[in-house]
Amino acid sequence: MSSDAVEKIKARLNIVEVVESYVKLQKAGKYYKARCPFHNEKTPSFTVSLDRGSYYCFGCSKTGDIFTFVQEIEGVDFRSALKILADRAGVELKKENVQERSERDAIYAALETATRFFESQLPKQEKVIAYLKKRGMTGETAKKFRIGYALEEWSALYDHLLSKGFSASIMDKAGLIVKKDAGGYYDRFRGRIMFPIADNTGCIVAFSGRVFYVSGASEEKTAKYVNSPETAIFNKSEILYGFDKAKQAIRKADACIFVEGQMDLVMSHQAGIEHTVAVSGTALTAHHLGLVKRLTENLIFAFDADDAGVSAAGRSINLALQEGFEARVVAVPSGKDPADSILEDPERWKQAVAEAKHVIDYYLDYAVAKGLDDRALQNVVKERVLPYIAQLSHALDQGRFVSKTAAVLHMSEQPVWDELKKVQQEMQKNQVLEKPSEVSTWGRNWSRKDIVGHRIIGIVLWQKGLQEPEVETESIVEALENMGGHMPVDMVSDDRERYIFEAESYCSSDGSVQVRVDELLANFKREMLRERSVKLRKELALSKGDDVEQEIMKQIQETQKEIDSIDRQIKET
Ligand SMILES: [Zn+2]
Repeated sequence: MSSDAVEKIKARLNIVEVVESYVKLQKAGKYYKARCPFHNEKTPSFTVSLDRGSYYCFGCSKTGDIFTFVQEIEGVDFRSALKILADRAGVELKKENVQERSERDAIYAALETATRFFESQLPKQEKVIAYLKKRGMTGETAKKFRIGYALEEWSALYDHLLSKGFSASIMDKAGLIVKKDAGGYYDRFRGRIMFPIADNTGCIVAFSGRVFYVSGASEEKTAKYVNSPETAIFNKSEILYGFDKAKQAIRKADACIFVEGQMDLVMSHQAGIEHTVAVSGTALTAHHLGLVKRLTENLIFAFDADDAGVSAAGRSINLALQEGFEARVVAVPSGKDPADSILEDPERWKQAVAEAKHVIDYYLDYAVAKGLDDRALQNVVKERVLPYIAQLSHALDQGRFVSKTAAVLHMSEQPVWDELKKVQQEMQKNQVLEKPSEVSTWGRNWSRKDIVGHRIIGIVLWQKGLQEPEVETESIVEALENMGGHMPVDMVSDDRERYIFEAESYCSSDGSVQVRVDELLANFKREMLRERSVKLRKELALSKGDDVEQEIMKQIQETQKEIDSIDRQIKET
């Protein structure tokens, strides 16, 4: 069934549309280019070919089609990618048999069924609705975020899921129930407003429940928030709350706002600031940032403008800077969380986001606003500000902030630079830097001859695939083979794509393909001769007897003559 669906999807969706929903593409000749979503880079080397429905990164050599792209960028397996693209293309996939579902699917299904059950309870709970309204949440927003209510009972969800055919074992593995010491189970979430947490693709993988007893029972001895435990499908260090709904907006705004709580996130989206996400029940991790990095390198942290808030965000900001992000800070009025602030005045929230300050400006202004004396100010700068400046990747930015810091401290720049150097050395000592992401071995250890040869092969593959080739591929192959090169057989499709992309891109600048081919063939010959010349020189060094030496010398000279003649040829064209 899959291959049929794959073809249908490919016919309906083009690669540019699919890629563009995740990364900004720019048209460059017959290609589209972007900064690669799979590796860090400043200049775009991620290249998409609309004609061939494929992409290739000249930096990390990742390549593939819409399916591999979605798999990679969403971090899902082929089946999930198929589902995502099928939904988008409006292609229906055949429903699977219940018995055939894997345990994983059963866990997803249990969580989805639970979400619907909680959603269905909400309209019956007047007190809960009144509370959500008081916090400023509209019914539309509640629906959008699938907010629900878990009844104040021990087995309401358990009984419901049982009636829908789910086993206790699956409910347990989904984190929905808790085993009793005496045997049996009870619902994990009771008397709570339920915020479902979705993965990147919008599937519910966990919940966060805020206590709310409609009976009026005391909430004092209960945890205010209860979150799902980690399960086979929920790893809290890999999931950002709201990310599935924020993705598009993050890409468009080229920025991502981090808030702390679910309510902050929901209200920010409601206020129209949809590029907002929240870390759910854990500290920000490099993995969280990895999700965001595909879409933007600009982060905005929103936290309380008091000492506790400032230091709480410190670790996140550190991490963000280490991972190469620009970090800015929204100052939320003291004593309020973003949700309260939005309730009071949604426009002010928008304004605050628009006026987010660079993290270093934020700390410097904060230190000055506190009216500290010079000595205390110097300490703040040393402990808070310099470590941030040290992590900036651009020397130019460092210079700007060193000047500002010097101005704040009423001193010249040199002592600030000296102090910065010390901080940097200290950090290098303490830091265990993460290894850069793996890079394929494509092209590594290639000789110049290999590089030229693979370009020629690429042009042949590329031109063969065109309806109206610009060059005669047969004669190129012949010329290559006459020089001892050969077309590879049994080429894996990834390599094929790489060859083609590199060749097409190589020929995409001015000049005809034939001119490029002639130049490459000449270069290939030159490299062949050069390799021969190197070999001859080695032989010469090992040779014994004048006759042999003279013969080798003659060959070397002839080879060199040929090389010179090719060099002249290449220069002339
Ligand atoms: Zn790349």
